[in-house]
Amino acid sequence: LSTWSSVPQGPPDAILGVTDAFKKDNDPRKMNLGVGAYRDDNGKPFVLSSVRKADKIILEKGLDKEYAGITGLPDFTKAAGELAYGEDSAPIKENRLAITQSISGTGALRIGAAFLSKWYPHAKKVFLPNPTWGNHIPIFGDSGMQVEKYRYFDKSTNGLDFGGMIDDLKNAPKNSVVLLHACAHNPTGVDPTQEQWDEIAQVVKEREHFSFFDMAYQGFASGDCTRDAYALRKFVDGNHPVVLSQSFAKNMGLYGERVGAFSVVCGDAEEKARVDSQVKILIRPMYSNPPINGARLVSTVLNTPDLKQEWLGEVKTMADRIIDMRHKLRNHLENDFGSKVHWSHITEQIGMFCYTGLKPEQVDKLRDDWHVYLTRDGRISIAGISSHNVKYLAEAIHNVTK
Ligand code: PMP
Repeated sequence: LSTWSSVPQGPPDAILGVTDAFKKDNDPRKMNLGVGAYRDDNGKPFVLSSVRKADKIILEKGLDKEYAGITGLPDFTKAAGELAYGEDSAPIKENRLAITQSISGTGALRIGAAFLSKWYPHAKKVFLPNPTWGNHIPIFGDSGMQVEKYRYFDKSTNGLDFGGMIDDLKNAPKNSVVLLHACAHNPTGVDPTQEQWDEIAQVVKEREHFSFFDMAYQGFASGDCTRDAYALRKFVDGNHPVVLSQSFAKNMGLYGERVGAFSVVCGDAEEKARVDSQVKILIRPMYSNPPINGARLVSTVLNTPDLKQEWLGEVKTMADRIIDMRHKLRNHLENDFGSKVHWSHITEQIGMFCYTGLKPEQVDKLRDDWHVYLTRDGRISIAGISSHNVKYLAEAIHNVTK
């Protein structure tokens, strides 16, 4: 008998499975709306001009390939922290932000989950929005945290179930860990308004909950990195204890470079030093130290004023293209095809994804009759739509929903 004969076949990843099916389809009209990666208006992967320039600067420097420290490149982590919290934020000015480089957002979440699992002084339980990014569940579960849900999406409006969310946060045991998507909620595209965030902050404070912010899309929602950091900064201003995972996959188009950061807002500099020491002790046996290239790229873009300006413009260009596609898709559905279904959520939702409200059977029909590929929860990646195929997509959606 072979050593692994009792290892069972696991299910394929829901999103990667969509891409596999897409690749097998030979129809020229085919569309892949499964994958969460930005595409330009020709449907092609997009490398930012600011990043290309940073690449060149780094190459010309002829740097060595020595190891980074356990928590990564300091020029990178400093700039990442300032981008998220704001240069003038109290934790940065008071030297009480413990921050480490991470293997993109996923790695940041994983370090954070492991840190909470080891050191959080209350119940090791985390409340996730329902639904949430699928990977949150095993990231926290595999790190030894118990996973619970709070209400988030309202199927009847394709919007936020704000009342349900507030009730669930109120009813969660005191000192619960709550995961919050800072902006551009994945998979629903539904974000609280600023006023709703203020109310959420109040309830979280009253219940003494602990907030874990996941910010994988800073700048990608509104096109403005400051605006997209509203919730995080509101909580920090209100002296909430928070941790944060950041990713540069989407907003700098650095998907495969795997560059992100995990940070902990501490009470003072002395506590920061203790937290930092424990973060290092967690990371060392996981992967010793992070890769350097992506962090050099981000650091060069953020620390070179001209490149930073150019990058801020490019983030806005990406966000604007997505917003434009939302309007075009809705407009074609309502005005060209006369769909009687409510489609206002397409333009009310924000960020890379739209939770369309399509049923699994309708998703199957889109695939079988129209060569349009998406996950069975009805989520589409708006970034996968272009001005060349948006009308075709509207026609397809209209046909399966009429
Ligand atoms: N959190 C959320 C909500 C995401 O959507 C993603 C990307 N799909 C991530 C974290 C992490 O992605 P990455 O590891 O590529 O930075």
